[in-house]
This record gives sequence, structure tokens and C-alpha cells, in this order.
Amino acid sequence: MKSLENYIDGQLVPPASAQYLDNIEPATGHVYSRVPDSDERDVEQAVAAAETAFPAWSHTPAVERSRILFRIADLIEANRDRLARAESIDNGKPLSLARAVDIPRAAASFRFFGAAILTAQSESHATDDVAINYTLRQPRGVVGLISPWNLPLYLLSWKVAPAIAFGNTAIAKPSEITPMTACLLADLCREAELPPGVLNIVHGLGPKAGAAIVRHAAVNTISFTGGTLTGREIARTAAPLFKKVALEMGGKNPNIIFADAVNDQVIQETLRSSFANQGQVCLSGSRVFVEQPAYESFVERFVKATKRLIVGDPLEEATDQGALVSGAHRDKVLSYLQLAKDEGGRIRCGGGPPEHLPQRCKDGFFVEPTIITGLSVDCRVNQEEIFGPVVTVTPFHAEDEVVEYANATDYGLSASVWTKDISRAHRLAERIQAGTVWVNCWMLRDLRVPFGGMKNSGVGREGGQEALRFFTEPKNVCIKLERPNS
Ligand code: NAD
Repeated sequence: MKSLENYIDGQLVPPASAQYLDNIEPATGHVYSRVPDSDERDVEQAVAAAETAFPAWSHTPAVERSRILFRIADLIEANRDRLARAESIDNGKPLSLARAVDIPRAAASFRFFGAAILTAQSESHATDDVAINYTLRQPRGVVGLISPWNLPLYLLSWKVAPAIAFGNTAIAKPSEITPMTACLLADLCREAELPPGVLNIVHGLGPKAGAAIVRHAAVNTISFTGGTLTGREIARTAAPLFKKVALEMGGKNPNIIFADAVNDQVIQETLRSSFANQGQVCLSGSRVFVEQPAYESFVERFVKATKRLIVGDPLEEATDQGALVSGAHRDKVLSYLQLAKDEGGRIRCGGGPPEHLPQRCKDGFFVEPTIITGLSVDCRVNQEEIFGPVVTVTPFHAEDEVVEYANATDYGLSASVWTKDISRAHRLAERIQAGTVWVNCWMLRDLRVPFGGMKNSGVGREGGQEALRFFTEPKNVCIKLERPNS
């Protein structure tokens, strides 16, 4: 069985403990590789490598850093099928999804930030005729990058690419549940001749390896994506150490559909925003609100379309819905289905594990895509992030009412609004408490825009200029102008 290794100082190295964790293929429920169970000794080694690499890397001309990032992007694209297969096996997501979305987006991150550093600008302020101030943006040093399992390579690349593009060196910790594509990325970084120590990847458990990164004195910047409880723990550790922290956390996103917008495309997009990646997307529209009088017919059409989704082996091309990431997560999702019934919800389709699965997948972690109606907006199923193929559908009558529903959770990551009335779309966009509001679309991405959440969904922003701000230290240089007679 394959044992994965950490990537430190350009080398693949075993964990100091010599201990490994089981890595389970979600579609089969069987162990298929072993992940380093790293601890603070491995983090110490990685930090030492990153500190050593920092002076040279931070002074490497932008054009050379850019060239290396482009090379990594090219290699990701050239290895798209291999990476997609690894991600599908590791995560349980359909191979077709990994190939079409995750892997191309990972390549795009490296390409985007490789280009961004060539055009990065800084500010200058003339203080009357007395002085000139300019902002010197310097890399922050050794940064910690902690990522989740749902979009493993894509979210890792979204952190690694800006961090190293702007001259930092990094310690990345991928999720212990989906380590495979990070290992392949390490191989590609070596092939792209990224200097040793610029990127170091330490695998292992969050409270052990992850926490060691967060509290390490030499790591002054932490970019985290994951659950809200973990984010809170990281904030608690980092705050007294005055670290710069960005937290991208959970969501319970409203998908608001006005009657004037209902058509086949909206049904298809709602299918995607509800169930893509088995609903394990932070941006999933897990609370669907439909304006009366379109509600009943919408539910009927949505249920019919959902029943047509093929749940099965993620490696099969025809599969729409793969496995959930782990047995524990599957059980959590199933417990919410029971709770929905207890709270008075009506299961309109799905509601449990599928009856028919291929022999290879009989021990896998599958849950049918599930639609629930009849729940109150404030019940637990409508308040807590389930992070699975489960959506609720609720009717509304008026704009004010649906804005209240949309904002009635502790989360504020994203929202979708479907309407033909553009003024209404603007009004809602202004009033909905979310970091991103999509109008007549979902998860349409432009890498230049700020990305992040409000309330319990996040602190700080990633993306374009925001990433530049986050991964650099803006130093003000004030030059007093000499005047002959002053
Ligand atoms: P998680 O919080 O359990 O784990 C995320 C990462 O943090 C993993 O690498 C984990 O090992 C590490 N970790 C855990 N405890 C830690 C600790 N004490 N110190 C340091 N690191 C620690 O999240 P998950 O289950 O992997 O991912 C699912 C969650 O991520 C969902 O809530 C989802 O909404 C969220 N998410 C958010 C975004 C976003 O952009 N806002 C994107 C994707 C996923």
C-alpha cells in the first residue's frame, strides 16, 4: 500500500513519528493509502526550510517567479486526467467533475497569480508639496496555509499560488482526508523547479500538525479554509500572537427564485447549486426559497429532475453523484435527515443511502440527493450547515420576507437571486448579508473579485487584489521634499 510523504525543502520525507493514518477511498470504504501523521517536529523542519528559502525567493525577480508559476499551471493541465482521477478516488467526487472543474481551476490559480505579479501596482500619495508617500508592498515571510477536503487541489492552489507569487514561503497543510492531489502537486513543483523550501507540505491531523503551524512563532500569517468551529479555534490561538489571519468558513446559502424567472435553466442550475459535489461545496444553495405562486410547480419539476441524477461509482463517466467524503460525514448527513423528519419536514425525494450501487461501491459512503419541504426557516436543519446532498425548499410571498429569510442564519457566505427584474436584483444584492451575491447564476467565478464571507462565514477576503493585500506587508515610505528656502 502506498505511503505518502511530506514535502519539505524540496524532498519527500517521512514523518518524524514514523506513524501514518489510513486514507480511505469514500466510494469503496476501503483503505487505499497511508498519510503521514505529522506533528510539531515535522512543522519545525518545514518552517526551517521555509525560513532558509525566504531571502532568495523574496528577492527573485517577479518575472522569474511568474515563469515558475506558469510552469506549474502547465504541468497541472498536462496531468489533468491523472490529477482528476486521484481527486475522485480520494474524495468520492465524480471524475467528470474533478476533470471539468477542480483541476482546471487549480491550474487557473497558478496562471492568474503568475500573471498578477507582473502587473501588481502600488500607491503613491503626494502630501501637498511637503512630502511624497509611497507604499512598499513586501512579502510577509513564512505563511501557513490550511485547506479542507471538499475541493482539495483547487482550494490549496487558491492559497499556495498567491502566497508564493508575492514572494512568501509557505507551509501548507491539506486535509488529512484528501491528501493525494497535494502529493502530486509536490511532484509537479519539483518538475517546475520551484526552489526547495518555497512550498512545504506537511500532512496530518488538524489539532496536531495544523495547530503546530498556527502557533509556530515564525509563521506570522495564516490562511485557513474549513469549518467555522475550526476557524474559531484558529482565531483563538492566533489572536494573542497578533498573527494576520484570513478565515474562509461554512455557509448556509440562500437560493432565491422569483416566479418570473422559473424555467428549465433555473431548475438545472438549482440542481447544480444544490447537489454539485454531493452538496459538499461551501457555496451550495442549501436553502431554496421560491416565490408563490410558482412554488408547487417548481418543487414538482425540481424533484423530477433530482430523481434523474445518477448516484454511483464516481469513476464512471455517467455518474452525477458520487460518495460523501467519509463514513463519519455520511452519518452526520443522515442524522440531519432524521432531524428533518423530527422537525416536521416532508422528504420529497432521496432521504437515505441509495438502494442500488455497483458491487465495488457497496461499502461506500453514499446518500441520495434529498429535497425537503415544510420546514420553518428557524429550525436546525435550516440553520446548521449540513454540507451534503440535502436542500430545503420554502415558499415566500414578498421581497422583504425573503430578505429576512435569507439573512436569518449566522452564516453569510453567498446567495443566488433569480429574477428578470434587474432593479429588484440590485435591491436584494444590497440587502443580503453575504460576501458574494450571484444574480441569475451560481458559482460563476472571476479570479479578480474579492472572495469571502460575512458573519460566521469568514473574516478577510481572498482573490485578486485582496490576496495581494493579504500576502504582503504594506510599508509606508514618507520622503520629505527638500525645498531650497524651507
Ligand atoms: P475542517 O475545519 O474540519 O478542516 C479544515 C482544515 O483544518 C483541515 O486541513 C484540518 O486538518 C485543519 N484543522 C482542523 N483542526 C485544526 C486546528 N485545531 N488547527 C489547525 N488546523 C486544523 O473542515 P473540513 O471538514 O475539512 O471542510 C469542510 C468545511 O469547510 C465546511 O464547513 C465548508 O463550508 C468549509 N469550506 C469553506 C470554504 C470557503 O471558501 N468559505 C470553502 C470550502 C470549504
